[in-house]
Amino acid sequence: MPRAASDVIVAGAGIIGASIAWRLAERGMKVTLLDAGGMGCEASWAGAGMLAPGGEIDAPSPFAEFCIASLKLYPDFVGALESQSGTEIDFQEGGAVELALDQDEFTALCARAEIQKALGIPSSALDLRDTRECAPLLRKPIAGAVYFSEDSHVDPRDVMIALRAACLARGVTILEGWTVASVLDCGGAVEAVGTKGKLSAGSAVLAAGAWSGNIGVSVNGVPRELPATVPIKGHLVAYSLPPDELRSIVRHHGTYLLQRSTGYLVAGTSTEHAGFDRTIDADIVDGIRSRAEDLCPVLGRYGPPIPWIGFRPGLESPETDGPCIRRLPDSNVWLAYGHYRNGILLAPATARRVSDEIAAGG
Ligand SMILES: Cc1cc2nc3c(=O)[nH]c(=O)nc-3n(C[C@H](O)[C@H](O)[C@H](O)COP(=O)(O)OP(=O)(O)OC[C@H]3O[C@@H](n4cnc5c(N)ncnc54)[C@H](O)[C@@H]3O)c2cc1C
Repeated sequence: MPRAASDVIVAGAGIIGASIAWRLAERGMKVTLLDAGGMGCEASWAGAGMLAPGGEIDAPSPFAEFCIASLKLYPDFVGALESQSGTEIDFQEGGAVELALDQDEFTALCARAEIQKALGIPSSALDLRDTRECAPLLRKPIAGAVYFSEDSHVDPRDVMIALRAACLARGVTILEGWTVASVLDCGGAVEAVGTKGKLSAGSAVLAAGAWSGNIGVSVNGVPRELPATVPIKGHLVAYSLPPDELRSIVRHHGTYLLQRSTGYLVAGTSTEHAGFDRTIDADIVDGIRSRAEDLCPVLGRYGPPIPWIGFRPGLESPETDGPCIRRLPDSNVWLAYGHYRNGILLAPATARRVSDEIAAGG
């Protein structure tokens, strides 16, 4: 094996791989970040960017704790990225308003909110006036609403632009169009073998999102079985509105709306098991549009919305209810994938955990 050119190779430059690469480089490590396509062009470009344990968690678990811990890291994560990249990130700590359209829904929502309070997710019931204050666009008659004060959102595209600049500023080598086919651990060093040749390093991190399961890993010549990944396709749509029409995330069941500072309003979403099919399905888009416009009829004036899709990185058989973030035993290979619908939220905590472990023992 050739002499290691880097301390760490990271396979996959979405928000997970890029955040890990940046945090390792901050510690003075020499990092090579490889991506099969373009940095941040897959799920991390497609994601809505909700940072919202209030909408995701309803029972205690290590995953619940991890989500809440990652949300707490966000202000510092964004602050450090902005200062190191010299770019601005649209990060809004405006909370989330969850709607109940009838009394049964309101009773169930309040019961869930009580359980969530015990987990560290604060909330309070809102009266109609306060609900309109948070979401002036909302016109639907509602039975009640609960405000999750700590839920936030970020523009993941801003985060990816900042991560590229911060990685480059810290000396990370970014190689795009570089598909990693396999990682060979030969005891003390690893080699990434791919479309553009071979690269060696002290350690490797697999962070290729929904494609992570396609990468083969062997340790001292013995193939290792890795948790298999599955792409879970989702559609989103966006409308161009004047800014400040929605001060909080608004959600009702599987529908959510959030507005970037520029005015761009994102509405979602859908869930399909369709492999890596990139077709935008007009019926699914129409379903999202009609749910969004049912909550906020005024959106109809700003349509038709712009649709797109992305592949959430799912795990075929999750080891826990969260992503797979761990060192492969007896190797210098770390796995950091399977963040499904929470990868934007979980990037700071994942990067901290993996970079701490590699710095301590890699
Ligand atoms: C519609 C939708 C809405 C979402 N909304 C939210 C949300 O509101 N909040 C939230 O927290 N999360 C959300 N998510 C989920 C979030 O976007 C993902 O969990 C997160 O982006 C995953 O990041 P990643 O870096 O693991 O994967 P990706 O961003 O997909 O990055 C993986 C990278 O690996 C590269 N790659 C693939 N194969 C190889 C290879 N063999 N070698 C090298 N590179 C390779 C790819 O080109 C890609 O750039 C949403 C996702 C979708 C699709």
